[in-house]
Amino acid sequence: MTDLLFREDAYQTDFEGTVASVNERGGIVLDRTIFYYTSGGQPGDKGVLKTEDGVEVRIGTTIRADGEIVHVPEEDQPALTAETKVRGMIDWENRHQLMRMHTAMHLVCSIVPCGVTGGQVGIDKSRLDFDVGEYTLDKDEITAKLNALIQEDHPVSAQWITDAELDSNPDLVRTMSVQPPRGSGKVRLLKIGDGVDLQPCGGTHVRRTGEIGPVRVSKIENKGKRNRRVNIVFDA
Ligand SMILES: [Zn+2]
Repeated sequence: MTDLLFREDAYQTDFEGTVASVNERGGIVLDRTIFYYTSGGQPGDKGVLKTEDGVEVRIGTTIRADGEIVHVPEEDQPALTAETKVRGMIDWENRHQLMRMHTAMHLVCSIVPCGVTGGQVGIDKSRLDFDVGEYTLDKDEITAKLNALIQEDHPVSAQWITDAELDSNPDLVRTMSVQPPRGSGKVRLLKIGDGVDLQPCGGTHVRRTGEIGPVRVSKIENKGKRNRRVNIVFDA
């Protein structure tokens, strides 16, 4: 299984690893990686892998397939073989923008007191879907609350907790905006500020909410009787 370096440090922009295998479609599996794979509504990273001989393979995205983390090359890239040592670099501008958006989505979660039914993080636009029931969402109110939390510059941190620790802290589970998955032995919790947001998340985030920068709710869409889609854009 690939060692997921981005789980420990989302700010690492390059690393060295070894090709573990190459699948029949040319997808590259490494022993370790900083490339985030598409999951939790956040797109996988793109970037480049370079061999010691100077061969460059441009990676278009990173996914999880058949239980492996697969670096998917763009079209017409040179083929790599197992055991080749590579230096990998992610497209940091792209990733950092996704980290800012992803962290902003946690803040939206903390502001809207409704269950999340879906979501997608994007470079220019992100969205979260809520089962609102009778609750009414106001675009300007959410925008104001969001920017207040961003300006307050709350620290963002991740910690691992075991299923046993979760079971012995029912209050912790109660304060989470999303119920943690159980059964894998441990869960990664993402914490923003002191009580701003706490929920299980394996994604990449900025270190402080101030790093997100100004954002705006561009629109709230009606997606059925109980469902509303909150769309967020950067407001710079
Ligand atoms: Zn997250």
